[in-house]
Order: sequence, then C-alpha cells, then structure tokens
Amino acid sequence: MLQQGENCPACNLLGESVRIITVKNLVKDEYKTFIKDLEYRICLNAICDLVYYSVPHGVNFFKDQIRVPVWFKKDAYPKYACYCSKVQEDDIVRAVKEFGLKTVRDVCIKTGAMKNPNCTANNPLGKCCHKTIQKIIDDSLKPTKKLTKKIIVRR
Ligand SMILES: [Zn+2]
Repeated sequence: MLQQGENCPACNLLGESVRIITVKNLVKDEYKTFIKDLEYRICLNAICDLVYYSVPHGVNFFKDQIRVPVWFKKDAYPKYACYCSKVQEDDIVRAVKEFGLKTVRDVCIKTGAMKNPNCTANNPLGKCCHKTIQKIIDDSLKPTKKLTKKIIVRR
C-alpha cells in the first residue's frame, strides 16, 4: 500500500525518495530549523517550484530555499552536471563537441567532474552524477534536428 502523501503536495506527481542528510546539507542555513525528522522526497517535475517535501506532508522546501540551483528544474542557472566539482552541463557538451570525447571517464578527466565525489551531500538527488553525465554525452552525440531534416530532403 502506498504511504499517504508520497506525491508532491504542490503538483501531485510522485517524487523520488531522498535521504535526510541530503536535505540537511542543501537547504539554506536560515531554513534548517524547519527540517523535522521525517522521510523526504524530491519533486522531479521541471515546472514545479517545490524541491523537497516530507512524508507525511507538512515540511516543504522550495527552489529559493535550496543552496544550489536544481538542474532539472526550469530556469536553473547555472546548470550543474556534477555538483561535487561544480562542473556545468555546458562544460560536458564542450568536452564532447570540441574535444571529441565520448566516454564518461574521458569527459571526467577533461572537465574534472566526479573528482572527490560526495554526492549524498552535494547533489540534490543525493546520488552520483554519473548517469546525468552519460545522458548529456549521449544527447551531445546525437545529430541535430537540422541535420536529420537535410538527410530526409535528399532522399
Ligand atoms: Zn511538484
């Protein structure tokens, strides 16, 4: 049975479970006193301003109460791919497009991503950014839509 209140109280979509240590580290100091000893979830909806909420509901932390921009939320700036080393999405895209790198390992060496990782404390999801970096690389390697169109026209 679903525990009551696992959905985001703002947008009603199901959030992902996060550890309280992540919430404690990423909520701005002035809001830390509002953190109660409960379970927490993070809302993954890009257009929802709520980041962390408690289960059961009652404690909410919005984008402006978090110390870092949450990369998957709308208008996040800068867009960090790796929070531990402060490497931005643009840095990864550049490593792929300008330097022709294709693997997470090579991109990390070039950009300094995933050096001294402490993802539980630094990443809003409390997880390693490996998957996020892989996805940015995959997206950067895809041909642009314009290119696809040209190929279709030639046929
Ligand atoms: Zn939400």
